[in-house]
Amino acid sequence: MEPEELIRRAVEARERAYAPYSGFKVGAAVLGGTGRVYEGCNVENASYGASLCAERVALGQAVAAGEEAIEAVAVVADTEGVCTPCGICRQVLIEFGPDIDVIMANMRGEHKIVRSGDLLPYAFGPENLKTKE
Ligand code: ZN
Repeated sequence: MEPEELIRRAVEARERAYAPYSGFKVGAAVLGGTGRVYEGCNVENASYGASLCAERVALGQAVAAGEEAIEAVAVVADTEGVCTPCGICRQVLIEFGPDIDVIMANMRGEHKIVRSGDLLPYAFGPENLKTKE
């Protein structure tokens, strides 16, 4: 799937963002190993810390649908440069591997693609939980 197609799906999801507090709408689209696409948008909360980012909503949809592999994720917002995932989302992404294409985009049609492993160097992931036994 071309990055532009996944970005287009993220832009669609962004329209449904629930962002009454920040007004900062974000959309995401995850490409699963089956080739299916899952959309997500940010979902804010009056208890700010309970807010969910678009990337994590989309990832949750993919996992709930039974996807076992995550190939790519596009994230888009109306930002000056491309929209980059926050630290929590980088951590959640690395759970599914260091080779996910993270397509960071904005509403001006710009995008940049970086591997999930490159977005979170020295990450703490599933491998780190293995004991020496
Ligand atoms: Zn995030």
